[in-house]
Formats: sequence, C-alpha cells, structure tokens
Amino acid sequence: MGKHTPKPGTVCVQAGWTPKKGEPRVLPIYQSTTFKYDTSEQMGKLFDLEESGYFYTRLQNPTNDAVAAKIAQLEGGISAMLTSSGQAASFYAFFNICSAGDHIVSAAAIYGGTYNLLAVTLKKLGIETTFVDQSASEEEIARAFRPNTKALFAESISNPAMNVLDIEKFARIAHAHGVPLIVDNTFPTPINCRPFEWGADIITHSTTKYMDGHATSVGGAIVDSGNFDWEAHADKFPGLTRPDESYHGLVYTQAFGKNAYITKATVQLMRDLGAIPSPHNAFLLNLGLETLHLRVPRHCENALTVARYLQSRPEVAWVHYPGLEGDPYHELAQKYMPNGTCGVLTFGLKGGRDFSVRFMDNLRLVAIVTHVADARTCVLHPASHTHRQLSDEQLIEAGVAPDLIRLSVGIEDVDDILLDIDQALTATTR
Ligand SMILES: *Cc1c(COP(=O)(O)O)cnc(C)c1O
Repeated sequence: MGKHTPKPGTVCVQAGWTPKKGEPRVLPIYQSTTFKYDTSEQMGKLFDLEESGYFYTRLQNPTNDAVAAKIAQLEGGISAMLTSSGQAASFYAFFNICSAGDHIVSAAAIYGGTYNLLAVTLKKLGIETTFVDQSASEEEIARAFRPNTKALFAESISNPAMNVLDIEKFARIAHAHGVPLIVDNTFPTPINCRPFEWGADIITHSTTKYMDGHATSVGGAIVDSGNFDWEAHADKFPGLTRPDESYHGLVYTQAFGKNAYITKATVQLMRDLGAIPSPHNAFLLNLGLETLHLRVPRHCENALTVARYLQSRPEVAWVHYPGLEGDPYHELAQKYMPNGTCGVLTFGLKGGRDFSVRFMDNLRLVAIVTHVADARTCVLHPASHTHRQLSDEQLIEAGVAPDLIRLSVGIEDVDDILLDIDQALTATTR
C-alpha cells in the first residue's frame, strides 16, 4: 500500500494489530499482568524509561495498546491510551495538565458525570472550573479565562443537550490563551467528526458508547493530536516541561517530544491511579470498532427517520436532533459532521412529565435503560432518572427540560422502532 493512508473503514477493521508470519490473524488477548525479562538490568531500564517495553499491565499491555493505536489512527492523532471508563479518560485528560491552584473553562451543557467531576471532585482537589454558554460570543467566553487557566473543554455533541460545538471558535479561544482545547468526541465518533482537523488538541472518549457499540464494556480513551506546543507555554505546564522527580528528573517534552502528553498520562497517572481496562475488555472494544463505520451511518439514518416521525405526531411538543433541518444546531452539524451526527435525539411530549413516564412504560421494543449509543434502541427520562434529585427549576438551569426524553436510536429495522413508538403514544393517549 506504500504511503497511501487507509480510509476510516479500513482503519476500523485492520488497524492496530498487524500479525507477522505465523501469528494470530485476530488481535490476541494478552491476559497477563506481567512480562518476562532475561536480566535484572533489562528490567531496570524499563523502570527508568530508558527503554520501552511491557513489564506490568497497569502501565501498558499489548492488547490495550493495539486498540489505542487504532483509535489514534481513526482520530488522526499521534498517540492514544485506553482507560477503564470515560470518566477516567476525562479525569486523566484534565489532571495531566492541571493541579491544585489551576483553573479550567468548560462548556456548561455537558455530560452530567463530567459536570460533577469538574464542579465537585476536581474542585475538592483545588482545581476550579468556570462554566460558559458555548453559544456565547468569543469575547464573552474569553472573559472566563484567568492567568491560571490550563484548558478549555467541550463536547463535540453534548449529552443530553445535543448541542453541536463550534470547534474552530473554541480552538481559537483556547489558543489565544495559550491552552489546549480538549474535546469529548463520544457521540459523533471519528466516523462523523474529526475535531483535530478543526483545531482541537486533545480528544477524550467514552468508548462505552458507539465505539464498543454493544453495551458490553465500560471504557474510555484519550487521544493526542501532537499539535499543542507545551514548550511554548512552559510556565503554564510545568508537569510536562519541568523535571519529574519520580523518574530521576526526566522532562517529558524533552524525552518524548510530541508524545509527551500521552507518555506522562501513562507512566505517571496510570502508574499512580491505575484506571486500566482489562485486556479482555479492550478485545471486546476492538470487536466493536471493527464495525463502527457500518453502525454509525445506520444509527444516523434511523435517528433521522424517527426524528421526522416524532415531528409528525400531534402528541409531540418538540424534537431536538441536529440532523433535522430547522434545528438550532443544524448549520454547525452540516459544517463539522456533514455525514450525520449520531443516533441520539431528544423530544418532549405535550402531556408533560406524567404522560412521558406512562409513554415510556408502554414501550416494548424500546427499553428503559441508563445507557445511550448502543445497538439497541433505548430511552431515558432524565427528570425521573439521572437528574431525579433536581427540581423543575434546577432542571431547566442544567439545560434539561422537565419533559425531555432522551431516545437513543439503535440499528434495528426502523419500521419496528416506529411501530413501537406509535403503539406507545396511542396507548398512553387512550
Ligand atoms: C457516558 C459519557 C461519559 C462517561 O463515560 P463512562 O464510560 O460512562 O465513564 C463521558 N462523556 C460522554 C459524552 C458520555 O456520554
């Protein structure tokens, strides 16, 4: 194939694991905590990072690394690491460049778990976050920055608000302040959106969602574009640009160049915090990735059909899906993800909260589960489930309307999904 760059579909199927003569065709599960060496000196060099090699699965494992390499290639990044959950990926992505006394600017409408991580847990560690309205002007968002700000964060499509990020605008703001833009690209996946091409520096994923795609394994990933110049802002990022005493004074940017960020997150954060996925889960994630390029378009096609159908029903008050013409985020979706957004949409029913609950109870094929973005169509009512401790006023503040139903459209035959919604709406009205 020479210098030809394979297309995403080929990367999904084949990247990461290239067997040599007589080796297994399929990525093996290296279900081993440890790796053997012949001499004590060989092992010592690994601990000093003088040589690279596997020695303990908490730091690195060949199965995990093969899957990380596939995800890096899909995103167009230079290096990646797997984590045991999307939450761990977000935490490591921030904590790798922030410590007590630092500050983050984040879009306000983001996944609830990430919001809590920033607003509650990182705050306890002395890292403060200012939340901004992502549709505000550049000047307004810029006002949230402080001298100690270390990162700008947002989701390419926010969960569950379904806002599409203006990635170029956010990249401009981040870079004007000498900090990286970190984008959670879980919902569109690199099949539909590649944030690095629009200026993002670091990408995070909950691989639990479309990448696994079958709801078998919780997992996460961090990908580095290799584009952010840490040395140019050396005072802001001492963790990368100053000696690490736990490795005899090694400086990550000097020793590892463009791989400094992922190397530090691996050999320091993973060493000390340990949120590593099991090689078996990485293997399952890889099976999911092998069909990502087939599943994502089907999710989008089905979701658009369902969104249009819901719009046509008199019981439905509103439908929010960036793939729909007329949606407030349609234009940004056309720019950043012209082939489709994702399979998740939100809608409200005219009957309000009580009607919504009964509607969901009447669904048969569509299941009530705390999950999104897998092969099976599922539904959640945040006001009754994930956000049930909030009052109606607090819900609106959090960007979750009390009547909001989140529907994650799967890859079943769409006719059956429509039939189920139809019978449930009819039964609830009766
Ligand atoms: C689910 C999700 C997460 C958290 O991932 P887990 O794998 O559940 O830890 C982070 N970001 C987004 C956008 C998500 O949907």
